[in-house]
Amino acid sequence: MRTFPIFVSFDGKPPLVVGGGELAAIKTRLLLKRAATVDVAADTLGAALAKLAEAGLVTQIAPQPGIDQVRGRPLVIAAAEDNEEDSRVSAIARALGVPVNVPDRPELCTFVLPAIVDRGEVTVAIGTSAAAPVLAQRLRAWLERELHPRLDALAKLAGEFRGRVADKVPSGAPRRKFWEAVFEGAAAEAMLEGDEPKARALIDEAIEKSAGAHQPQGRVLLVGAGPGDPELLTMKAVRALKAADVVFYDRLVGDGVLDHARREAELIAVGKAKGAHSVPQEEINALLIVRAKAGQTVVRLKGGDPFIFGRGGEEIEALRAAGIAVEIIPGITAGIAASASLQIPLTHRDVSHTVTFVSGHEAGGKEPSFEHLDLKALAGGKNTLLVYMGVTTAAVIARKLLEAGFRPDLPVMAVENATRDDERRVLTNIAALAARPESLGLKSPAVLIFGEVAGLPAAGVVEDILALEEVKRVYA
Ligand code: SAH
Repeated sequence: MRTFPIFVSFDGKPPLVVGGGELAAIKTRLLLKRAATVDVAADTLGAALAKLAEAGLVTQIAPQPGIDQVRGRPLVIAAAEDNEEDSRVSAIARALGVPVNVPDRPELCTFVLPAIVDRGEVTVAIGTSAAAPVLAQRLRAWLERELHPRLDALAKLAGEFRGRVADKVPSGAPRRKFWEAVFEGAAAEAMLEGDEPKARALIDEAIEKSAGAHQPQGRVLLVGAGPGDPELLTMKAVRALKAADVVFYDRLVGDGVLDHARREAELIAVGKAKGAHSVPQEEINALLIVRAKAGQTVVRLKGGDPFIFGRGGEEIEALRAAGIAVEIIPGITAGIAASASLQIPLTHRDVSHTVTFVSGHEAGGKEPSFEHLDLKALAGGKNTLLVYMGVTTAAVIARKLLEAGFRPDLPVMAVENATRDDERRVLTNIAALAARPESLGLKSPAVLIFGEVAGLPAAGVVEDILALEEVKRVYA
């Protein structure tokens, strides 16, 4: 069953439960978490329901309800535990368009009941489209532990202040920031600790401070999105995404990462696919500045780390020149992620003492000259070269290294789409890469690791190009 979560209003007619037994009682108690009263259709009520009826929470109506008893209900639960009766009630409800649930009979249901974490005003409903109820229960247990028991009191307090805040604090970004400050700050803390007077005083104070305040200037957060796996986002990166009014993101940033953005945030792709059309850097800078000046919280989301071949430096310069506050949130850069995924260290006792991050491209898309690198010195030493943006220039790089005196059989490991579902690794050596780069079948994005460490035993599947070529030769 494909389902969509909503919260149903119980302000009108009471919900209807059909059946007087234990199952009906369980469902009725669940509904009473929100309903003032529940109508129960049954000829006799079991002990549990009878008690609820005595307390005025349940109204007993005649069994086998017809069209008039079902019409206009917010929902119906058929729990007569009688196949025929439950099917009949389900058919009536469906014909009337009234949502109906029959426990354990998905084919008779138009809605499923979620697992619920109840904090009064704050309700978390968990659904797995009936596919994995045990998983839903485990999630619930986890949320029960995570969500403060006094969250309800906090939400109620916020509700009380809502009108006054709306009168005094300008709408839009300032008001949202006001509430963020309340929920993240001392006021919420005081409330959760049970000190309501202190919480009230703090909110009062915050309202006075924000009242009539003019639109504050926005800010820009340069955020590293990591290599692709959303689990590798930092907590700060997630927090920034949750606070964003607008997110400008690179092509390398995956959907799983963007899912963390605030639902109302504008998501704008600004390209950065090599060779493909993308927004020029000056234009990106200008966009960031315009949005920040309009008071927005702007997230500039970049693959990996913003300061590793990410042009973060240029953006910072432009923003500083425009007098805009900037914050940098680092990310896990692709090379480090690839190393972790392979379980191969980039520095290793006796094998590699340094790591050099190298770009396989130069500004303007020229072939790399590597003039800035003393390759001869690196050739003799214990060093690892980590090459980014080197897919199309891999053979050029390999030739330059050979010319500089690197060992022809020095291992090279390429990692494509590191940490993503389609991660792929290929092992070769410098000489083979220089002669037959196409044999790797490498696609962007990929990093190339040159050095002894690339030959260390790796975790997971590695395609060994030299061995594959040998097999092809023997069987040709
Ligand atoms: N700031 C980024 C690098 C941007 S340059 C970072 O810190 O990772 C773009 C290059 O990064 C690509 O050409 C590729 O070499 C590398 N890259 C980015 N994501 C990658 C990934 N998931 N797997 C392998 N390489 C990746």
